[in-house]
This record gives sequence, structure tokens and C-alpha cells, in this order.
Amino acid sequence: MDHLPIFLNVKGTRSLVVGSGFLAARKADLLLRAGCKLTVVAPALGEELARLAETHNFDHKKGELTAQDLTGCRVVFGCSHDNAINQKLCELAAAAGILVNVSDQPDSCDFIMPAVVDRSPLLVAIASGGTSPILTRMLKARLETTIPAAYGRLAEFAGSYRQRIKALIPNMTRRRRFWETMIAGPVAEHLFSGQLEQAKSLMDSLLDKAALDGDQQPIGEVYLVGTGPGDPDLLTFRALRLMQQADVVLYDRLIGDGILNLVRRDAKRIYVGKLPKNHTVSQEEIGKMLIRLAQEGKRVLRLKGGDPFVFGRGGEEIETLAENGIAFQVIPGVTAASGCAAYAGIPLTHRDHAQACIFVTGHEKDGKLDLNWGVLIQPRQTVVVYMGLSSLGLITEGFVTHGADPETPAAIIENGTREGQRVITGTLASLPGKTTEAGIKSPALIIIGSVVTLKDKLSWFADNNQEQAMKDAVNRP
Ligand code: SAH
Repeated sequence: MDHLPIFLNVKGTRSLVVGSGFLAARKADLLLRAGCKLTVVAPALGEELARLAETHNFDHKKGELTAQDLTGCRVVFGCSHDNAINQKLCELAAAAGILVNVSDQPDSCDFIMPAVVDRSPLLVAIASGGTSPILTRMLKARLETTIPAAYGRLAEFAGSYRQRIKALIPNMTRRRRFWETMIAGPVAEHLFSGQLEQAKSLMDSLLDKAALDGDQQPIGEVYLVGTGPGDPDLLTFRALRLMQQADVVLYDRLIGDGILNLVRRDAKRIYVGKLPKNHTVSQEEIGKMLIRLAQEGKRVLRLKGGDPFVFGRGGEEIETLAENGIAFQVIPGVTAASGCAAYAGIPLTHRDHAQACIFVTGHEKDGKLDLNWGVLIQPRQTVVVYMGLSSLGLITEGFVTHGADPETPAAIIENGTREGQRVITGTLASLPGKTTEAGIKSPALIIIGSVVTLKDKLSWFADNNQEQAMKDAVNRP
């Protein structure tokens, strides 16, 4: 983050805008709406400022800018056409320790002004750190159409009950759930349709119920959520919804920042990652942690790369939960094989190449691979190997010694669906050497079978897929 996002309380404080044009008028308008006592320093007021003066009170100083003008200000704005005047304002502000913003001059600014969607008291601010005002504007336009005007009413209504509810429900987790029920439920619906009295009476019944429940512990639950192979766009709606509700999240190294950033901001984060051959937190400990947290009444989010039930030990985790009577939900995700195949342009099945596809783990046990070669080496079949990078040599060798053609096409995909995805293609004979040469790292997935030859034919599609993913990321609401 290049900037600290804050909303500043300037009500009743002095503030200064230097300049007479349209930009000065825009800043002046914002400052007045935020309750500032405003002075505009300009030889004469431009058209927009003059119009503003008809409906609002502010001082207009025609003379030169002096240090005196900044007294009592927290923020000042330079919007003059004369850069020397803006520069003078910057110097005076720096000397007095006051924050300054100069229009269109990011280098002279202590802070930037975001684009704002105003549903007061609800405010949404958007900024791109000066990199792309157009993108910010596009997002603002999108939010303007998706956040109903009535959200402001909802925020105001909630605010009027805040202290009462704080006193009635001291437990923070329970209080959060109360608000979530209220905001997603019929009270809000009535407010949206302008029925304030009905909303109040429904709210009273919610309060009565909360009073009856007392301050007992809420019931906890575990969400075992598959997050897909890495691209946040591949999350399911349900995954996203539960990620937004969680009180605490357990994650490991397969979960990238793009996905973690979508988890509710103030959910507690616990890293339970394992490093290969260096188990940091055991499966048993994770199970115990899930149970303890759920018993404390928390909504516990257990994030799993890909799909929880595909080499994800999801089955073991829910067994422990079930044994201890903990409620849980399992949310499927796009497994690495599907994600990597789509983004690399390698179909897992194809009428001319493969009628079957088999997923195996290449994890070694005591330095040995425990694979059923007879099942793997079949005509017209694709084999996808998870966790096979460190044993790639053993795997390809195993295929050949058990009768596969060394020229069978094979590919390895590193960081599938993520930024920096790399795809190396070759054959059973050549892939290990090429992989070492390219310095491929985990996570990596191996695909074996003649479908790999389709990659070059379909690479336009894979490239297009990636390009589209980028566009979607820009357009994501
Ligand atoms: N439950 C997960 C698999 C966990 S096992 C799923 O359904 O995808 C971890 C293995 O998955 C890694 O060793 C690697 O082989 C594969 N994998 C997961 N994400 C990947 C990615 N983004 N790119 C390539 N391989 C990946």
C-alpha cells in the first residue's frame, strides 16, 4: 500500500483552498460538505465557486496568500493555475506541519483525494495511487450503480441503535452476528423500500430475542473451503460469501495473497502451512485447533488450495469434526488439474486422444513411489500427477520401465492460473531434464498423455484465457 486510507474528521476546523477555477470549486464543495470552515484565496471567484457562494457560507480572500491563512487548518488545497502560488502554499504548509494536496501534482501532495461514492453516512473511497484515474472512475461508476441510495439510510438506522446493542450484547462475536442478521434480513429490506416504522418494529423483536438469549456463547462452525489453484476469479460465490463471514481463518502456503485479501479484514489469521519434509503444524494439531475454535463459538474458515477432497486431506479433517459433533460445510473448488489444464491449453480428455483421466499423487513414501503402474499405463488415458515435482525423475522412469513409450508427451505446469504461470512440454524422456534446466518450483503439476500435443494447437486459446482473466480482474466489481 502506498497510502494510508483514512477518513478525516474536519468538522468545525478551518480549511483553505487556493485557486478560483473548477478544481478549486470541487475541493471547496467537498470541504463544505464535510463541515469545514472554509476560506478560498483567489483574486476573484470563478463561475463554479460563485455559484457555490450563493448556497454556502465561506470566506473569500482576494489578497495574497500568507502564513496567517493556514492557522488552525488541518488540510489545505492548492488548485491555482499559477504554480508558484501552489508552491508557496506547499512551503507554508510544510513549515506549519499541515497536510497539503496540489491538484494534478502527485509529487507535491501529502495525501491524494479518492473518488467517492457518497451514501452518507456510508462513504466508499477509491484510489489508484495516481496510476490510473480512468480505472478509478470506472470503478466508481460501477459502484454508483450497484450500491443503492438506501444504503445510506440503512447505515444511519444502524448507527442509531449502535450503543443500545453494544450494551445489550457485550459478546463481540454475537454482536457481529446480530448485525449480520439485521443487515442481510427483513429489517434492511423494509428500510430499502422506505418502510421505516415496520423496520423499527422488526428491529424491536430482534432486540427482544437478543435480550432473551442473554450473553450465551454462539454456536461455532467450520467451513472447509476449496479456493481453486490460485487465480481469485476461480473462487465460487459460496466460498466468497463464507470467506466474508469468518471469524478466524486457517491457511497454508498454497493460498496466495490475492485470495487471502478477500477474507473478512478483521478475521484472525493463523498460518498452518507445511513445508515439504518439514511438517510445521501436524494434521492432528490442525484438527484440534479447528475443534477448539468452533467450540469457542467461532466461524472457522479452513482454506484449502484447489478442492478440499482432492489430495487435500479434507476427508480426514471433517472426520475429526464429525467425531466431536462440530457443524461443518465443505465447499468444492476448482482442482489444480482442471485449473492448470484450462490455463495451459491442455484438455484433459479429447475424443481423439483420451477417454479417461486419472489423478494420482507422486508423493514418495520412504523414498519410494507406491503407484499402480498397470492402471496408469493405459492407451487413450491422461495421467495427472499432483505433488510430483521432487519425484519427477522416478515417475517418468517408472512409466518407461513398466512399458510406456519414452516419447509419450508430458508437461509440467508451475504456478498454474497464477501470475508467472510456466508450462514446459516434452516427453517422458525429456521432461525431467527440461524441468531442472528451467528451475521449476512448487507448486507444479505434471500431465502425461498425448493431449499434451494439443497445447501448441490450442495455445491461442490459453493465451486468450489468460488475457481474459486479466481483463476480468480489471472489471471485477
Ligand atoms: N487440493 C488441491 C491439491 C493439493 S496437493 C487441489 O485440488 O488442487 C498440492 C499439489 O497440487 C501441488 O504439489 C501441485 O502438484 C498441485 N497444485 C496445486 N495448486 C497448483 C498450481 N497453482 N499450479 C500447479 N500445481 C498446483
